[in-house]
Amino acid sequence: MKTRAAVLYGVGEEWKVTEVDLDGPKTGEVLVKSHAAGLCHSDEHLLTGDMFSSDPENSIFPCIGGHEGSGVVIEVGDGVTDFEVGDHVAVSFVPACGKCRWCASGMQNLCDQGMGTLGRGMITDGRSAHTDPDGEGIYCMAKLGTFAEHMLVGQDSLVKVDKDLDLIPVALVSCGVATGYGSAVNRAEVTAGDTVVVVGCGGIGSNALQGAKLAGAKNVVAVDPAEFKREKATEFGATHTASSMEEAMELVGGLTMGVMADKVILSPGVVTGDMIAPAQFLTRKGGTIVVTGLAPMAQMDVQLNLFEFAMMNKEIKGTIYGSDSPRKAVPQLLSMYQAGQLKLDELVTQTYTLDQINEGYQDMRDDKNIRGVIVFD
Ligand SMILES: [Zn+2]
Ligand SMILES: [Zn+2]
Repeated sequence: MKTRAAVLYGVGEEWKVTEVDLDGPKTGEVLVKSHAAGLCHSDEHLLTGDMFSSDPENSIFPCIGGHEGSGVVIEVGDGVTDFEVGDHVAVSFVPACGKCRWCASGMQNLCDQGMGTLGRGMITDGRSAHTDPDGEGIYCMAKLGTFAEHMLVGQDSLVKVDKDLDLIPVALVSCGVATGYGSAVNRAEVTAGDTVVVVGCGGIGSNALQGAKLAGAKNVVAVDPAEFKREKATEFGATHTASSMEEAMELVGGLTMGVMADKVILSPGVVTGDMIAPAQFLTRKGGTIVVTGLAPMAQMDVQLNLFEFAMMNKEIKGTIYGSDSPRKAVPQLLSMYQAGQLKLDELVTQTYTLDQINEGYQDMRDDKNIRGVIVFD
């Protein structure tokens, strides 16, 4: 069949909306009609060249972008037992096979299948199921490619959701909300009375703020250079705001009588090595730094005072998918939204059509959006 998709042909180019050819679903595959796709910063890393395949034979271009999304199942292949036509689904950029060592240990966010998501081909049989008008095989971001009117994905990359739910918030929980909320609740393990600093308050950080607040933090400090994001941050649970980590240093020192923050979460659009030292000094003795945002893949150098790090018994943790399981996190977060605990509608600053994708990403670069969302017909 044919569908329309936003394809990136190389670093520094614009997204090109074009018609692509798509296979029907084979064994273990599901065809989904897209409803909404979030403009997550991670796809911007494809465009800037921060994210690439280290194997030149396995170039990620051309590439259908998008890894945050929702839709309705319209066809299933042989052997698909968990989904039927008409089901509403969230995608998951971390597939969960349920069988590998990590899945079997309750760490589905580390599923072995997820390791291959920067490689070409279907997760099921490795074939290239998408081709562009020139007949060239297309890579799909995270084996999903949510910037397309239809998605052909492996069943392990989907999570079924309640049909009563609006599919826009469903799309948001599939990456940004789960990642941000989990960074605070699961990985930083925020507890009642904590002082928490969240650095970078976009689509991920806003949910780290919500998670910190829901976990009972006393002080939730939002750090972002954009005034608009600092204002929004107070809606998502921030008790204080600062425009930089430097400014936050004095603020947090005052709030904690010099003890400093229990937890610091780094969730800016791009994490760089020079952010670690200031995060370290914002963190109290024995405190925790969680690195959530993506760094350029080649980034190796980190500023860290090793003496202070050891002597003050601090820790730095990485996290993917909020250190949670997609099949647990997605329904749980949506149920919290239904109960009025979690704000999801408020995350959407602007919606776009697929053809407006470049405008949407420009708005993100201009700090105009908490989350921009493509909504399909
Ligand atoms: Zn994302
Ligand atoms: Zn697995």
